[in-house]
This record gives sequence, structure tokens and C-alpha cells, in this order.
Amino acid sequence: MRSSRLPVAVASILLGGISGDAGLPVPSPGCKSTPADVGWPSPNDWANFNLSVNGRLIATSPIALPCYQGPNYNPAACAALIPSWNDPTFRAQFPIGYSFSDLEPCDIITSAFNTTACSLGNNPVLAVDAATADHVSAAVLFAAQKNLRLSIKATGVDYLSRSTGFGSLEIWLRNMREGGMVLEIPYQPQQPCILPSGQPLWAGDSITINGSYTWSDVYSFAQSNGQIAVGPAYGGISAIGGYLQGGGHSAASAQYGLAADQLLEATVVLANGAQVTTSACQNPDLFAAIRGGGGGTFGIVTSVKVKSYPETPVAAVVFSMAALTGNDIPLFLDSITYLYQYFPWIIEAGLGGYAGWNLYDTQPMFGPAGPSFYLVMGAFNQTLAQVHATFDPIVAGLTPLNGVNLNLSVSYNYFPTYAGYFSSLFGTNIPASAGGIALTSRFLGAAHVSDPVPVRQMLNTTAGLPGQRTSRLAVLAGGLGVRAGASQSSGVNPAWRNAYVLDIVARRWEHTATAADVEAIHSDVTAVKGAALTALAPDTGSYPNEGDARDPTFLANFYGTALPMLEAAKAKYDPSGLFYCPTCVGSEFWSEDATGRLCHV
Ligand SMILES: Cc1cc2nc3c(=O)[nH]c(=O)nc-3n(C[C@H](O)[C@H](O)[C@H](O)COP(=O)(O)OP(=O)(O)OC[C@H]3O[C@@H](n4cnc5c(N)ncnc54)[C@H](O)[C@@H]3O)c2cc1C
Repeated sequence: MRSSRLPVAVASILLGGISGDAGLPVPSPGCKSTPADVGWPSPNDWANFNLSVNGRLIATSPIALPCYQGPNYNPAACAALIPSWNDPTFRAQFPIGYSFSDLEPCDIITSAFNTTACSLGNNPVLAVDAATADHVSAAVLFAAQKNLRLSIKATGVDYLSRSTGFGSLEIWLRNMREGGMVLEIPYQPQQPCILPSGQPLWAGDSITINGSYTWSDVYSFAQSNGQIAVGPAYGGISAIGGYLQGGGHSAASAQYGLAADQLLEATVVLANGAQVTTSACQNPDLFAAIRGGGGGTFGIVTSVKVKSYPETPVAAVVFSMAALTGNDIPLFLDSITYLYQYFPWIIEAGLGGYAGWNLYDTQPMFGPAGPSFYLVMGAFNQTLAQVHATFDPIVAGLTPLNGVNLNLSVSYNYFPTYAGYFSSLFGTNIPASAGGIALTSRFLGAAHVSDPVPVRQMLNTTAGLPGQRTSRLAVLAGGLGVRAGASQSSGVNPAWRNAYVLDIVARRWEHTATAADVEAIHSDVTAVKGAALTALAPDTGSYPNEGDARDPTFLANFYGTALPMLEAAKAKYDPSGLFYCPTCVGSEFWSEDATGRLCHV
């Protein structure tokens, strides 16, 4: 790992942060301090703080710094980085490593190495490599006392740049793995917790995750204990961070609900540094807020207990469809329209999963390069005959086009375990992007996909043009499992509960894109593609973790009718707005000034 634990006095000098120096700008009222400000902590302050976190304060530096001319230039070290550069799990090993290169302050652009300057960009200047909840508490208190901008990073895979921040102090959670994982059969609540109905909160099993493990870690643990954990398709995501707290869809969601619905208890470090337990019976308003209302907003979660389920067989269908020629693309889109109409019906028949499609992308979110459509769905505890009975008639409707306009393929597989299903059909290591990405998304209910005319119009507008690198993901998680979560205290946008499809549009750009190119892509995603999704389903909303970072109405779209409850929790648990992240609840009270400083509006 490149970032070194610098003596703090040296780090402070590097950062130019000497409190009280004449000539330093005085921060604007209501702005967080940056290293350029007179209010930035003194070397002595940093040294004392470093002692309080057992010497785990790090001066951050870009991963690719050795590739750039300057005192750190080191061609051999740079060459050693290149093979791993597109591996997001590699970048996650660094305090300022991110899955999307547009957040990386210095990219490895070519193997011929750069000669241009490399700096931290909009990223944290110092990080606490937190190993314990006490380190997290100390960092939270220090940031509050010194008026610092805080960033919280577990993995850095976030699509909306929410785990970084200009001039900030980062709480880096990757190495906080204090107490391992513990299986409870059945779940034992820390305090007795009986629902108003008289039922215990959860009569099944649970896994305690003590620290910022990834889902790959949790899947291994669950599998070795014959259990199923509800997590994402990509295992590099944090098991206690933004995914879980933002809602979290899964290949198991149609059966068991969203990841946030699995949360039984959590330990949270609050803005005043206190470590509290939260559950349906302890701090229930905070509990509801972190069950879908967003990471990085209400506090820092250091451990969780989540529901787990005994292993179960899964009967699966894999269906793919490709346009034979460019002239067949209209029929290809008609065929996708046809499939959209059946999605609610398929999900109500007990199947859940994902469908990815694209016309012209070479690195789509799911499935092969376009023009192609790729669907994987599984039914828990069903026979192959049952899945055939659901899916065969749908395929039959498209069969006349097979070999004429489309190339169709369908296969059915029975897996004795969910773990076998998941590892065979999902769970690949998705490459980091050599560039950036902009997303938009929308929840679609049965009524929104029943009429083929508006669906076809939406598909036409969102499919993308040649050269646009547009890809589409239909999250087919809904039905009974997701609806059931509505009855529990939840911060998830209630619009998700009645949806069958979370429809996602993504556009990527290369690292060579100009600022104007990137602006044009964002504008297209918001004003054209996002608008087309909204026109189809104006009464629903959007998924905050896979939504539009530039959505002008993000509060309504991301949080829906849960917003008043989330705002009340924010006001109660973080009244001064210490926990800021773009598009998070409370972020509307802050903006960055021309120098990048975060200021109260
Ligand atoms: C390749 C890929 C696949 C994905 N697949 C899925 C999927 O299958 N289902 C799905 O629902 N989403 C998926 N996502 C989106 C995912 O939910 C978000 O990227 C999510 O923000 C990741 O959370 P993280 O904590 O790992 O990321 P980070 O970038 O580390 O953090 C994201 C946010 O959470 C906050 N945070 C992190 N840890 C904590 C903590 N312990 N306490 C409080 N706040 C915290 C951060 O401050 C930030 O605001 C995917 C994303 C990618 C890039």
C-alpha cells in the first residue's frame, strides 16, 4: 500500500496547515476548514489527534503518484501498478482509491507514463485508518471540534462520489474488522424486542458482522455455515456501508426482500462520538433511517446483525437475445418491450434476478456487448418444471423471430444450493472503469409496463446511440419479498415496495473525455434518459445508490414519502450536518464554493 503513516508534523507542513499563520485566508462563515484556511488544525493538534487514534493517521496520496514526474516518480513502481489498475478490489486497498477513474486524482493513462502533474484533486488530505469503533469516535469528535469536512469510505465503489470530499479528513473503514463474524441459530436479540403484534422481531437465524467486511467475506462465511445472506451481485461492496444502508437489491431480494430489510441491529457512531446500539426497540428512529435512508448521513455503522436463511435449492433460467443485424434493432426493442410487460407476472410466479441489455456498449453493466439482452432469474424451492411452465410460454412468443431477426438462447438449471446458483451465474469481479460513469434509474410498477406503446417509447429514448456507451440494467427484484419489507420500520423509498423493475440507465466515458464531453453526458442522462424514465413512471422514484448524481429533484426521487421521517432523524442525530455526502439527506444545506470548500448555503 502506498500511503504511508507520515509523522504528523511532516504531514501538516506538506499540507500547509499551520494555524494562525499570517496571510492564510480566513474561512467564509459557515464553511468547513481546508488546509488553506487559518482555522486548519495546528501540527500540535494533529499530533495529539494521531496519538488518540494509536498513530493511525495517514497523509493520503494518489495511487498513481509514482507514474508522474516529481519527487515520487518511480517507473518501476508505476509499472507494478498497471496490471492491477482495473481491479476495483485493488483500488479499494488505498484510502483514496476509487472504482471510477474520474474520482482518481491521477489516472494511469498509458503505459508510457504521464509527465503532467498529479495532485490530490477533490479527495481527502488525511485519513484515519480506523481499526476500532473507538478510532471512529475519536475522528468524528476531532472533525466536529475542528470544523473539518468528513469523508467516510469503506470501499470507494460508490457511483455518486459520496465517499470522498475536497480537503476532508477521511474515516477509512476498510481495516476495521474487530470481532469477526458470528452465526446465531436462532437470532438472539441484544435486548428482548417484541413487535406490537406480539411476535418476536425475528425467529430465524442471523449473522453478526463486526466491522467493514466485504460481501465476498460474508458470502464465504455464510456458505461455510450453510446459510444465505442477502447481498449484491458484486462481492467487493462493503457489507455494512452504503449498499446496506441505501436499500440494497440482491439476487435473493424477490424471495427475502432488500438488504436493508435484513438489518436487525446495528452499532452506530453518532455525530457526538457516542456509540449506540439501534434496533426496532432501541433508538428505533435511527434504526429506520439507516435501513434504506442512506449511508454517510446519520452516523457511522461499525457492526450489524442481519437475517440469514438456511441454504435452499434454486431453479434458474438464463435467457439471451441478440439482434442479427443493425436492421433488426427495432424488432429487438419491440421484443424487449414484450418482455417488460411480462416482468411483473414472472416475478409474481416466484422468480427474481437481473436483465441487462444494450445496443452499442462494449462494457455493459450486465451481459455481453450489444446489441444483446441477457436475463438470469432464479426461483427458490421450485422445480425446473415450474420454472419451465413460467418461462416457456414467454419464449414461445419470440420464437418466430429466432434465426430470422434475433438469435435466441434459453437454458434451465437446477442448483441444489443458492450459493451454487450465485457463484455460477453472478458474483464476477466487475472491472474498475477506465473513465467515469453517470447513472439514472426509476422504479416501475405493473401499471407502468402494461401498455407497450409508452414502454417502447422509453426504451427507444434510453437505449443510446452509437458511440454513447449506454447500457441498461433491469433489476427484477420485487413482489412478495420486497413488499413484505414495507411493514417494518424502513427508510427505503416506499415507491420501491410496489415496483417490479428498478430500471437503470448508465453512460460511461473514457478517461480521455473532455470536461465538455462529461457535461454533455450528464446532461443527456438527466434531461433525456432520466426524463424518459420519469415520463413513464412519474409517480414512483429512483434508487439513491444507482441514481442520477445531478438529479435536480433528488430528495423527492430518492427518498419519496420517507423523506420527512429521514429529515427528522437527521435533525435529531446530526443537527450540525457533520455527515455530509452529495445527494444524501441534509446535503441540500451545503454546497462547494469556487475553491472547493464545503459551505453552508
Ligand atoms: C460494480 C458494482 C456493482 C453493484 N451492485 C449492486 C447491487 O447488486 N445491488 C445494489 O443495491 N447496489 C449495487 N451497487 C451500488 C452500491 O450499492 C453502491 O455503490 C454503494 O454505495 C456501495 O457501498 P460501499 O459502502 O461499499 O461504498 P463506499 O463508496 O465506500 O461508500 C458509499 C457511501 O456509504 C457511506 N458509508 C460507507 N461505509 C459506511 C458505514 N460503515 N457507515 C456509514 N456510512 C458508510 C459512504 O460515506 C458513502 O456515502 C453496485 C455498485 C458497483 C460499482
